[in-house]
Amino acid sequence: MSSYAASNQTPRFNTVAEAAQTQNAEAVIEMLNSGYNINAQDMDGNTALHWAVWFRLDSLAQQLMERQARPDLGNSSGESPVHWAAKSSNVLALDAMTKHDRGLISQRDCDGFTPFIISSQNDNTPIMEWMYLKGISVEEQDDWGRTALQWACYKGHRRTVQWLLSRSASVAHRDHEGMTAIHWAALKGHEQVAEMLIDVGAVQLLDVPDAAGDTPIALAQRKKNRYLVMCFHKCQLFFQIFGRPHLSHNHFANLFVAFILFNICVFTFIVAPGIFENHIFAVLVWAAMMGGSLALWVKACWSDPGWIGPKTILPQHKRIGRDPILTFDADQPVESQMIHAEENEELDHGSCESMTDELARLELEQNKFNYQRQLITEARRKLDETGGFNGGPGYVLTGAGTGGTELQPLMNEMDLGSVDANQPQGVQQRQLERASFALRERARATGENLGRERIANLLDKGRGEYVSLIDKGEFKQVCVVCRARREMRSHHCKECGRCVQRLDHHCPWIDNCVGLGNQRTFYCFIVSLLFTIADFYVVVVLYVFDEVIPSWTRSSIGQLWGQLTKFQFGPELQPLIVLVTAAFDLIWLAFVGALVARHTSYMIVNVTTYEVLVRPAHMQRRFPKSRGRFWFFNGCGPLRAVRNCVAYWVLDTTHDAGDFLAQATPMDSFVATSGDMAVAGAPHNRGVAGGTGAYHATPHYEGTPARSYPQDIGGGSGGAHGASPMGMGSGAGLYGPPPAAASPFGR
Ligand SMILES: [Zn+2]
Ligand SMILES: [Zn+2]
Repeated sequence: MSSYAASNQTPRFNTVAEAAQTQNAEAVIEMLNSGYNINAQDMDGNTALHWAVWFRLDSLAQQLMERQARPDLGNSSGESPVHWAAKSSNVLALDAMTKHDRGLISQRDCDGFTPFIISSQNDNTPIMEWMYLKGISVEEQDDWGRTALQWACYKGHRRTVQWLLSRSASVAHRDHEGMTAIHWAALKGHEQVAEMLIDVGAVQLLDVPDAAGDTPIALAQRKKNRYLVMCFHKCQLFFQIFGRPHLSHNHFANLFVAFILFNICVFTFIVAPGIFENHIFAVLVWAAMMGGSLALWVKACWSDPGWIGPKTILPQHKRIGRDPILTFDADQPVESQMIHAEENEELDHGSCESMTDELARLELEQNKFNYQRQLITEARRKLDETGGFNGGPGYVLTGAGTGGTELQPLMNEMDLGSVDANQPQGVQQRQLERASFALRERARATGENLGRERIANLLDKGRGEYVSLIDKGEFKQVCVVCRARREMRSHHCKECGRCVQRLDHHCPWIDNCVGLGNQRTFYCFIVSLLFTIADFYVVVVLYVFDEVIPSWTRSSIGQLWGQLTKFQFGPELQPLIVLVTAAFDLIWLAFVGALVARHTSYMIVNVTTYEVLVRPAHMQRRFPKSRGRFWFFNGCGPLRAVRNCVAYWVLDTTHDAGDFLAQATPMDSFVATSGDMAVAGAPHNRGVAGGTGAYHATPHYEGTPARSYPQDIGGGSGGAHGASPMGMGSGAGLYGPPPAAASPFGR
């Protein structure tokens, strides 16, 4: 077909795909009107629909779909327009393309990646939640049996890992190499991700070898990640002793306890006995202050900082099973896990109390389809490789794939017909083809029921608003982990994995968030701690006058020096210990003093630590000029200060709207920061660590570079998409006229 030249314009397009790639919607329509093939593919197999959904040319995409453009046509990497719509968070197009067949959301590219798995590789959680509500299985597996959770752990995407754990994605699932999510996190040294997994029960998997015999600890050791190795050993030890992998999530809380204990010891054994006779009142005051500080600390640790919703990330100890080593057979990874999944049917039921029976049944059924699909894929692969199902003498069991032995009973059970090894290859192929088709149909039907059930479950809990926001792609207004609409000044704490009302900050010293719910307790705690430390100096001065100076007059300097050099820690050395403690406490005094000063000033101006540090959009609106150290004091008079302080103590948030929303539109979502919701990675970057075959090289985890694709554009239009993946409302205009670099092929 001759190339098309848009009227009076120089660009010539061979196909409508090329015209769409330059975002020339007019040319596309004109070409279609003059009879060009709507499904024509460009050099890389992309169609006009690929480009239209990618660039969010909404009206063009709609017209293409009306003219029956195929949403399932794969490009050279097997990615369909549905994959691309997921990559660009184009909910509108995703919905339109899959409206009549939700099974299309589970399409696979040449590596078996579904749009869901690709979204997890790209840390795109909102779109995953959208697919989840359409009935996608969180346990979808690619051609190596890897789930979205394993990919997110491999990539170190904390947000996606958190979301997947909140949807009960299995930490115990093994890929064809026998690796679990924590194996991948250990291998790549993603410490925070590993800790999240350990929290929900992966601590029981630290001793579990993969198909090559490596445990997560061994993998971390091989990568010389000493911190992770130590952390793993510590978690194992604590789990055996206390039944939980750690006492507090970070070391600061432990440090604080050590500091307090040290001070109490010095006071009880040295200072108090020395001044008790003359200043019993001072002793009692300090003891009372310390007791009060400790009580406030405990209260702050366990208080509710103002969680917006119930906890969504629940432990999976039950699912991991009694013995994770025995329940897996490296020769038959799929079969052994299928059996295990069925055995745990009852257990799984209890893993999520909020789940209805019907929902649990559908989830389980759909998960079974994932394994069955693995078996069929493997059988097809073997058929291709060996030219026969049993293959005769030439038959070689390749890799650590599936044995195929389970396939026939499975197909009988599913009424999928039979695969007869004596039949010619062509017949066997057709039989597998039929089985695959039947499986797809069942998975689609179950998925649709599951989606309905999931939504019904949310509606029952009064989350109708949340569901409709997700459905419309208004991702900025919701938190997909907590499944809640974001509130004014709320923020999702990454440490706790929950949204907190008017989040101030996550305080490592109390190992808890500080928010609207416990801001008063926290403030009282730091003030009380400051006075306790300051009072320590009062008792030290009393101690010096009561005990030290009199003892000096009794003994000579020479004697004292003699004690020191002989390292005799007798009573004469006690003053030295007190002196060192007092010097050390100076650091704490300065630190806590600064903390009190900061929180007092934040209270006066009605801002939070988070807002001052991150300066989200609503802060920039309230403080357009943020010059100088105390920029947040701008425009705060004495009356306003008194009002803010009163509001702080009576938990009155009615002034927030006036303070922050003065010039904002009602729809302005000031609670989400752009950085928080941005989708990482260039969408074209397939984010594939190790493509086909790379994983199967020995050692299996080495040499897994990101696959570089010709359309791997890095910056360019990819960057533009990455910066604002949620800009559904703003439409195509967001991406503006494409600069030269926006053309993925550099044209
Ligand atoms: Zn949240
Ligand atoms: Zn927190």
